[in-house]
Amino acid sequence: MTRCIALSGGVGGAKLALGLSKILTPDELLIVANTGDDFEHLGLTICPDIDTLLYTLAGIANPDTGWGRADESWETMKTLKAIGGETWFRLGDRDLALHLTRTQQLASGETLSDTVAGLAKSLGLEHPIIPMSDQPVRTMVRTDMGELPFQEYFVKNQCLPKVSGFQFAGVTDAEPNPRLMDALNDPRLEAIIFCPSNPFISIDPILAIPGLREALKACSASVVAVSPIIGGKALKGPAAKMLLEMGFDTTSAAIAEYYGDLLHGFVIDSRDKSLANDLQTKRRHVLVTNTVMRSIEDRVVLARETLAIAERT
Ligand code: GDP
Ligand code: CA
Repeated sequence: MTRCIALSGGVGGAKLALGLSKILTPDELLIVANTGDDFEHLGLTICPDIDTLLYTLAGIANPDTGWGRADESWETMKTLKAIGGETWFRLGDRDLALHLTRTQQLASGETLSDTVAGLAKSLGLEHPIIPMSDQPVRTMVRTDMGELPFQEYFVKNQCLPKVSGFQFAGVTDAEPNPRLMDALNDPRLEAIIFCPSNPFISIDPILAIPGLREALKACSASVVAVSPIIGGKALKGPAAKMLLEMGFDTTSAAIAEYYGDLLHGFVIDSRDKSLANDLQTKRRHVLVTNTVMRSIEDRVVLARETLAIAERT
């Protein structure tokens, strides 16, 4: 029976998801991945957040880049460059094997959930990782350079354009993953955790799927978010820059404000403890702790503490 649902993007989310997977059994934990970053490139369907979760839980993620596999080689990229192919999005040789397999399986009619389950099994994973939806949803970023598909903003333009908003193309026709809805409808569900992922581009695409916000609100489980902002900064990626450009302060308080009344619990870093009093409300319990996950122990401790506040709220 699912006790905990974790909503996750890539690198920040996967760290906490790994911690959760060390203390919950595969039956107790459901990891839901953002697919708004997915795109079609070189004829392949690429799912960056799903793959970061797969590689992280399998212990083969590249710790330096935050994407792709450790122990990677780049012969295909070198050859692509030599023949004038597109090389702005880097894909390692081993990583490519996964994209090839997924693309072939999708073309033969498998759902994205099926292909992810198959890949997870081949990597020896037992904890379920599911896409938020089996229908394609693609994040579009409104910027001062016009509307850009997510990876053109993120990788090609290195997050430099100024952001004014987001659109999740396809989301109105997307259905939430049935496994996610089953877990949300189970009265025994205890916790829904928003991992310390980017709220705009990792958690929002999930929440934008029709019916999901309502299902979260109707559900009796506690919703707890872990702030991805620590001491006014993101540890990685454009979260702080986006907050600023979208008119928010670059603080954990802005993250709490953004999630609003969805939250029953909020976890902030010890460095932000001066914010705790103001953030604490009758409805929202605030936990101040170390949220910087360097070691595996850090991941496990934060996972345990986050679950504990969900149980108390
Ligand atoms: P992406 O899809 O790879 O961009 O990853 P996510 O959206 O899941 O996570 C990005 C966010 O994770 C950034 O805003 C980081 O500040 C945050 N992050 C990364 N590592 C940590 C960590 O150890 N602790 C916390 N609290 N946040 C983290
Ligand atoms: Ca991502």
